[in-house]
Amino acid sequence: MTDERDLKHKELDGRTIAADLHRETAADVAALGEAGWAPRLVSVVIGDVAAVEIYVRNQRRTAGKLGVAFDERHFQADITEPELIAAIQAMNADPRVTGVIIQRPVPRRINVKRLQSAIHPLKDVEGLHPASIGNIVYNEIELGPCTAMASVHMLKTTGLELSGLEVVVVGHSEIVGKPIAFLLMAEGATVTVCHHMTRNLAVHSRQADAVFVAVGRPGLVTGTMIKPGAAVIDIGINRVETPEGGARTVGDCDFESCREVAGWITPVPGGVGPVTVAILMHNTVTGAKRQKAFYASTFAADAWTTGPEREVGGA
Ligand code: NAP
Repeated sequence: MTDERDLKHKELDGRTIAADLHRETAADVAALGEAGWAPRLVSVVIGDVAAVEIYVRNQRRTAGKLGVAFDERHFQADITEPELIAAIQAMNADPRVTGVIIQRPVPRRINVKRLQSAIHPLKDVEGLHPASIGNIVYNEIELGPCTAMASVHMLKTTGLELSGLEVVVVGHSEIVGKPIAFLLMAEGATVTVCHHMTRNLAVHSRQADAVFVAVGRPGLVTGTMIKPGAAVIDIGINRVETPEGGARTVGDCDFESCREVAGWITPVPGGVGPVTVAILMHNTVTGAKRQKAFYASTFAADAWTTGPEREVGGA
């Protein structure tokens, strides 16, 4: 049996990792503010507020601590998609707004991907615009989907060399599993992606130096499926009943058995979740920096000079 001190050492504490990221972000926010580019997030909630209240509260609190302005826009559940897109376009056109977040879930009849695609890529702090997802394929990994970025960041905190690392990603959703795979490939890892049609998950996971699990099925991965010393990044969030009749939040991995063999493991809750919010704020800073650079180049004196004149002027 491993002693209690070793177990603590193996757990990748999301709150500590998030706090380190927050320090960097707060410094960047202050510098941007001094340069006249104070980041401002707009949170878009559609319909049933209760379902997203906890996320919004966390984001608002974190933004406040870091000096990021946080505006909340609440739309009634019966709003139409064109009306929402018009509202997003107004946010795109407003230079005071540096980032837009669409809180999920949205009412079933609203296509959240269309809303996400309506956000200007420079204001896409969630990293879910098709342009942001596409950039990852081109190895531009500075800004990407928050949960995927957070999960990969947690692996980096182990100090493992990503280049050449054997990694298994379980789950291939567009916003979590697939971006994780591309972010890791950009870092030089050898990546195997498993999903519900994978014939024998354990055959793959037992070979891996690191296993990412993003499925939404409690207990899917157990200790016998993990190579001794591997890193386990558990992204799942599931509510399960306790024997006492209550409920608790667990991940997709059987924590106790995985912890016995893993070199590092993320707890749920307190693992990937807090780091995801920290990455959202980090992306907010990245977005604001890009907008500042974009406006600087667009409004630079010679940007208004037409081609031939510029040639003459520059000769
Ligand atoms: P999703 O869109 O439902 O995708 C689930 C994925 O799991 C799919 O790719 C699915 O593959 C795969 N899958 C289903 N059954 C499987 C099996 N038996 N073996 C292997 N793969 C299987 O979910 P998601 O949005 O990616 O989220 C996944 C989990 O992460 C959820 O628990 C969610 O709550 C959690 N999450 C956490 C955070 C965070 O901040 N910590 C953020 C987002 C999501 P097929 O399509 O082939 O069925």
